[in-house]
Amino acid sequence: MKFPTRLTHSGRDAARQGGFVNPPAWRGSTILFSSLAELQNPPAGYGYGRGGSPGQTALADLMCDLEGGCYCKFTSCGLNAITGTLLALLKAGDHILLPDCIFYPARHFCDTVLARLGVESTYYDPCATETLATLVRPETRLIYTESPGSDTFDIQDIPAIVKIARAHDILTIIDNTWATPLFFRPLEHGVDISIHAATKYITGHSDALLGIVVAGERAAGKLKAAQSALGLCPGSEEIYSALKGLRTLDIRMQKHQENALALTSWLETRPEVQKVLYPALPSFEGHELWKRDFHGASGLFSIVLNPCSREALAAMVDNLDLFGIGWSWGGYESLIVPLQTKGARTVTDRKPDGPLLRIHAGLEDVEDLKADLEKGFERLNNSIS
Ligand SMILES: *Cc1c(COP(=O)(O)O)cnc(C)c1O
Repeated sequence: MKFPTRLTHSGRDAARQGGFVNPPAWRGSTILFSSLAELQNPPAGYGYGRGGSPGQTALADLMCDLEGGCYCKFTSCGLNAITGTLLALLKAGDHILLPDCIFYPARHFCDTVLARLGVESTYYDPCATETLATLVRPETRLIYTESPGSDTFDIQDIPAIVKIARAHDILTIIDNTWATPLFFRPLEHGVDISIHAATKYITGHSDALLGIVVAGERAAGKLKAAQSALGLCPGSEEIYSALKGLRTLDIRMQKHQENALALTSWLETRPEVQKVLYPALPSFEGHELWKRDFHGASGLFSIVLNPCSREALAAMVDNLDLFGIGWSWGGYESLIVPLQTKGARTVTDRKPDGPLLRIHAGLEDVEDLKADLEKGFERLNNSIS
């Protein structure tokens, strides 16, 4: 069945919940049993709240269906999905390859906690796939990917990276948050583990923090063993939010994409804008790879403005009516935030020579969004001249 149909029907069983369309938020720690035999061997498969719930099973069924995985688990936030997965798979003496465009807090974890535990990290140019094989060592256990990369949206050649990893019997991970399962299906390209900050588009309303890890057969066993050892577990409301969010993912993502495409094409024509970083634009460096592998583009992109003072930038951004200033993205509302690339990259030297602004195109009317930004550009120009 096609994706929108699966988003609507998969992981749903009204008979399990008295006929109601949606499962409730299964809150609970203790699960009661009628005998010692049941305590030892829970009839419904649930022994204690930390290990899972019918709500988690429903969400796991849906995610595995969407991404073609055989194992799916949840964590308290997206960062925790990344750190928990790395802790599950690595030991002292191991080596890991990470893209220079990695979500910064994940880099911080590798450089501090993983380093302390004796795991060595090497960062690679996300777009230089030819040289990646030369960085592989006998003790390399993982190749981590994030495509498009944080802030600059570098598109990685995932099939080529998987080929290198498989040739060396190395597992691959992707942070698939930007695309969601709707626009990129990494397991179909041979990636072993797909990680989502469901905090973003999957819950979709800026009201929850949740991490999702989906794995194929090569990685499922190790993840399963570590899940209970690490005590990774989500909140019950967040599981409910993710199930609810996924049901409308298709229609939301189509609108985010439509608005982002309209905004980026318009921004490209603005004299104040030096560069627009959005994979769906034909002018973008990784556009052809994106077109080959992805089924769409989400609502998050960056722009590089012409060099200007901090005051001029503030004149533009501080007084926008529709774009909120704030972290995260993937909710229904538009956001704008200036990014600091200093220290965030160690291999690639693609520093923008002007302010880098990350923009999330929400679900508002796009003409209203353009008008808001246009007034912002006017304030910017007035404070320069
Ligand atoms: C936001 C984000 C995360 C972390 O998610 P949290 O739920 O905020 O911890 C991880 N990866 C990417 C690409 C993100 O954008």
